[in-house]
Amino acid sequence: DTVIVLFNRDLRVHDHPALAAACDEARRVVPLFVADPAMPMGLRQGFLAECLADLRESLRERGGELVIRRGDPVAQTMRVAGEVAAQAVFTASDVSSLARRREGRLARECATARMEFRCFPGVTVVPPGALRPSGGGDHYRVFTPYWRVWKDHPRRQVLKAPGMVIVPDALAPGPLPVPRHGPHELFRGGETVGRRRMTQWLRHCVSDYADGHDDLAGNRTSKLSPYLRFGCVSPLETEALAEGGDDFVRQLCWRDFFHQVAQAFPRVNRDDYRPRGHDWRDDRDAVQAWQEGMTGVPIVDAGIRQLLAEGWMHNRARMIVSSFLVRRLRIDWRVGADFFAERLLDGDVANNYGNWQWVAGTGNDTRPNRTVNHLRQARRFDPEGEYVRRYVPELAAVPTRSVHEPWRLPVGVGGYPAPLVTMD
Ligand code: FAD
Repeated sequence: DTVIVLFNRDLRVHDHPALAAACDEARRVVPLFVADPAMPMGLRQGFLAECLADLRESLRERGGELVIRRGDPVAQTMRVAGEVAAQAVFTASDVSSLARRREGRLARECATARMEFRCFPGVTVVPPGALRPSGGGDHYRVFTPYWRVWKDHPRRQVLKAPGMVIVPDALAPGPLPVPRHGPHELFRGGETVGRRRMTQWLRHCVSDYADGHDDLAGNRTSKLSPYLRFGCVSPLETEALAEGGDDFVRQLCWRDFFHQVAQAFPRVNRDDYRPRGHDWRDDRDAVQAWQEGMTGVPIVDAGIRQLLAEGWMHNRARMIVSSFLVRRLRIDWRVGADFFAERLLDGDVANNYGNWQWVAGTGNDTRPNRTVNHLRQARRFDPEGEYVRRYVPELAAVPTRSVHEPWRLPVGVGGYPAPLVTMD
């Protein structure tokens, strides 16, 4: 008998429940990835191509193959199922509306073809929907009570990579997608690199996380987000190995939290989770200045320029640049979130839009009117101005006391704009 394992953003062989079950239960397994031209991948396309190459290599080392097709994932899966006379399709559940529609269609097509269709966990530590508030409701709206039950909820076992994967003969592997850009300097895609980063960071650096994670210049966070985004590392295994890293594990819980919100509120990327009747400003010049890292506010520009240069931004900088856009410039959160979604290597629906709505006060923040003092944040989290100087070279020679407020200097800084808004 033959089972198809449809991969999506779970591009790994370790701790992969669907793959492990298929290898246990079936004689032949077809690991399949369908590149969907309708899927907005933004700048993540190159990273994805590397993930697929690496997954193919790992499966080949186990005697298997990664079969790659292009087109509508449901139609292509059913087509491959026909070619190999498969009895079942296994896949990992996901929360975005696109993923849920795909699962629904697959379930129906499989039923019509009299094939089994089974969904597995693996995208989060605790499956979205597994925890429900005792007072009623289908999900947690507030983080702290979620965290309290989440950390004590029993975990499934972390699974080993399968020893052997036997694919049916005579199935064309299909070409790897060709990336449009050269390889990313800081983040190479794939499970091999991701696992190495995960194990080394957890061994050597996690103990410094509680003190260091807000240090903008210090690079003291894990930078695992692109690997978690594509499932190159298992969130459950990451948690299991994070001994003594409570603050770090709490961040994995935030990730789970936003996934269960997105599952319950699939329009999280379009509609206010908690409508507040904002009147957003329409100011194209301000949006453009923000998107180019030319607002004249160094800490904001440094964050955006880190994003433009690296496809990644420090969490503290994400909070500063996003709240600057929605609170100071009063621009609709959707404008900023869509820009992030396109540029971030780790950009995903649940985390990106969940965090943006949190910052905008339309989401899960229990204090939606909190104010952020951007200058105070800059002085606190980048006290020497090192982060600003790294990403805003125009300010390289500005002394520390003025680096966050160059408008206080008696003469302007060549090439660097005056601030878009008054900053005192
Ligand atoms: P670490 O600090 O090492 O944390 C470990 C992991 O925990 C991260 O890799 C991530 O998977 C998870 N995590 C950490 N913080 C959060 C958080 N606030 N919410 C959800 N998960 C979290 N994260 C994304 O993965 N994708 C996004 O598209 C995204 N968009 C964001 C937009 C805004 C406006 C803000 C404020 C935050 C956003 N985040 C997003 C959350 C966070 O900034 C990143 O996950 C983090 O900076 C990634 O760096 P790291 O891997 O070094 O994180």
